[in-house]
Amino acid sequence: MSQTLPAAIPASVFEQRADAIAEAARELSAMGWTPATSSNFSMRVDASHAAITISGRHKGKLGRDDIMLIDLDGEPVGTDARPSAETALHTQVYRRWPEMNAVLHTHSRTQSVASRLFAADGVVRLQGWELQKAISGCHTHESTLEIPVFPNTQHMPELVARVAAWLDAGKPLHAYLIDGHGIYTWGRDMAETRRHLEALEFLLGCELDLKKLRAS
Ligand SMILES: [Zn+2]
Repeated sequence: MSQTLPAAIPASVFEQRADAIAEAARELSAMGWTPATSSNFSMRVDASHAAITISGRHKGKLGRDDIMLIDLDGEPVGTDARPSAETALHTQVYRRWPEMNAVLHTHSRTQSVASRLFAADGVVRLQGWELQKAISGCHTHESTLEIPVFPNTQHMPELVARVAAWLDAGKPLHAYLIDGHGIYTWGRDMAETRRHLEALEFLLGCELDLKKLRAS
């Protein structure tokens, strides 16, 4: 599969994004957060393009050739490759927030179990945890960090609409869970996005442990 770039995108820029995505994917895969070719990752390339993982590849073995260019309508650019089925959730972030430059979506066991457990409430309310401060814009453990849990569907426009409705209601959004599925989070660069993902994985794990201990 070969990638042809538009004249306005230097090869070095695309390769930098592809390498950063592949590196993050390998590390997240090593932690067991991307089982069975699941999960997808992207980075903004410019105001109207993003680099995203090609559908169906094992995330522990990604190289440059496993990343493709799309426009912000989710259409492939300069390649016959097929982007991830959930591409619309990535492009939604880039269209909504010009300052956001990376999106990570994983399916860890903790994320999956938490999404089922909190689905009935439609939200996980994190409060009192020091690590909430790892999320950009959260300055104290005393605030409440709300992570919505949206119903799963294979019909992406439905999920896109649920995310938009949450934002249009004026509620802050740093990440969301999809029921029985996994988590989405984003940031201004890959490092910030990784920090968000790791903090949320930790916080969701703590919430699950608390539930277990209180029930026993
Ligand atoms: Zn997924």
